[in-house]
Amino acid sequence: MMIILKTNATPEQVEHVIEHVKAAGLSVHLSQGLEQTIIGAIGETHNIPKDRFEGLDGVESVQRITQPFKLASRQFHPENSVFPLDGFTVGGEEIAIIAGPCAVETRAQIIETAHAVKGAGASALRGGVFKPRTSPYSFQGLGDEGLSYLAEARAETGLPIVTEIMSQTQLDLMVKYVDVFQVGARNMQNFNLLRALGETQTPVLLKRGLSATIEELLMSAEYILAGGNKQVMLCERGIRTFETATRNTTDINAVPVLKNLTHLPVILDPSHSTGNMDYVAAISRAAIAAGADGLIIEVHPDPAHAVSDGKQSLKPEKFADVVKQVGQIAQVMNRRLASVQTARM
Ligand code: PEP
Ligand code: MN
Repeated sequence: MMIILKTNATPEQVEHVIEHVKAAGLSVHLSQGLEQTIIGAIGETHNIPKDRFEGLDGVESVQRITQPFKLASRQFHPENSVFPLDGFTVGGEEIAIIAGPCAVETRAQIIETAHAVKGAGASALRGGVFKPRTSPYSFQGLGDEGLSYLAEARAETGLPIVTEIMSQTQLDLMVKYVDVFQVGARNMQNFNLLRALGETQTPVLLKRGLSATIEELLMSAEYILAGGNKQVMLCERGIRTFETATRNTTDINAVPVLKNLTHLPVILDPSHSTGNMDYVAAISRAAIAAGADGLIIEVHPDPAHAVSDGKQSLKPEKFADVVKQVGQIAQVMNRRLASVQTARM
């Protein structure tokens, strides 16, 4: 349930309400917006009458959150969540462009790609070092060696690093290298991993499962939020349908639906959602026109020889064109592309 405070409620009154929520055995999640302070009282609330809190000093009203996802819902947090990411913000006016190879393959490959995508206007670098592959015999990623190459790429370009974590056992190793933890589609319902990420303060890019509904995606985000990590971005990366002309089907509807249901930023991945480099530009433009807060795009200096996902990876020159096009669409939407100003030389 959410306890909406009066605009003139004093800090003592807020504290007093929080004590009552805790005494009822519920956890407290404070949402302090520009206009409104809301206390989320989360847990088994169905037996607790609203008037237990309604009469407290400083309380305007008490409402039940009707959605099954509570902290992720727009009811609880009406304004967009905007959070900083190393030189720019996600979820506000700026559009984040995350780009890089599917996998970190060699030191030279990731450093070259980092410079290329930065030059083309990317705001963050992606690259997997732990790869979830359908076959156990396919390349599984460079692991900690790859992390050190990503750290070098960041030091040279200033681009924050987005990379996939597959298991909570990798957390201690990864946390010092990673600016955004990517949770892959196959792990969207790895609840132990989600809980572990909820205990960190590192932003998370949570990808939608191959056959997951929008509600299931939001329930997975709820696991991370419930642990106290508020920096969750949702990623539409295409879903399985009967269509075989593309690797997946971009659920473009998911963008406005998510923006309506949740305050969390929405990122679209046109590389995995189409599986084909020829369609990435069109779907990138569509995503921003539909209201997405950013894109994650696979870019490789030599897609034909990429170890994974070469078919859907753009050459840096093509990526630069996509960034230009997306920048124009962003203007129409009264937004602008995020950029990282300073390299950490
Ligand atoms: C990836 O980003 O390379 C990846 C494996 O994505 P997904 O989890 O969406 O399939
Ligand atoms: Mn990939």
